[in-house]
Amino acid sequence: TGNREQLLALRQATVSFQGFVAVDRLDFSVAAGELRCLIGPNGAGKSTTLDLICGKSRITSGEIIFRGEPIHTYREFRMARTGIGRKFQVPSVFRELTVMENLEIGCSREPGVWHNLFRFSGGADTERLERLALLVGLQDELSTQAAHLSHGQTQWLEIALILAQDPALILMDEPTAGMTAHETNMTAELFNRLRGQHTLIVVEHDMGFVRDIAETISVMHQGRLLAQGTADEISEDPGVREAYLGS
Ligand code: ADP
Ligand code: MG
Repeated sequence: TGNREQLLALRQATVSFQGFVAVDRLDFSVAAGELRCLIGPNGAGKSTTLDLICGKSRITSGEIIFRGEPIHTYREFRMARTGIGRKFQVPSVFRELTVMENLEIGCSREPGVWHNLFRFSGGADTERLERLALLVGLQDELSTQAAHLSHGQTQWLEIALILAQDPALILMDEPTAGMTAHETNMTAELFNRLRGQHTLIVVEHDMGFVRDIAETISVMHQGRLLAQGTADEISEDPGVREAYLGS
């Protein structure tokens, strides 16, 4: 990660549920501007790790440092304001509203730096909405009711709604789940456009997609970080091969 500023660090982060250790002394860090993929067999602890980072679950021991602050001591309601945005597997768009109306709502809740900047120049909000729509490939669907979007388009709308909040860190859990091969390719292109502009942690099981987007891949197994590196490095790692075969 070179000389980029460290944005997030989990240090010996551990969580157990009724004695079952789902995340086990995990050391994991991400630099500002990184697009990090988190992979691992089912039950490895990937979703739980995202839960810990966004405050949905609490660590039982260890630390989570975000922008130099120990955020594991925060309550969840503060987390969103902290600058961490999360996309869950089930989309949460307003199905009765159009793409444009969804984006308008997305851009207006929790006004942040972005919003305030653009309030000063009249009409610039529309410009920003259109820019977001273009970024996620929904520029021709602005007047489409969200209920009529394809599965992939719905996911992209939700990604746009998260981007509208301008979070410093974006967490996504299996964004390509249920997508067609074409939609998955479009999503890889979208992520490549986001590269460098945002910091993302993306949990994925589609290795083709991961290869298309990731610089560094972190592999989890049984709650721990098993390996980290490029797609080629981790695919040659004997421990990684064993973890996938043994699951
Ligand atoms: P992954 O996303 O890598 O497939 P998860 O993080 O969802 O894995 O789960 C890791 C392990 O922790 C699994 O064995 C799962 O059953 C267990 N687990 C996750 N959340 C809970 C919970 N709230 N209560 C009990 N066990 C849980
Ligand atoms: Mg999961």
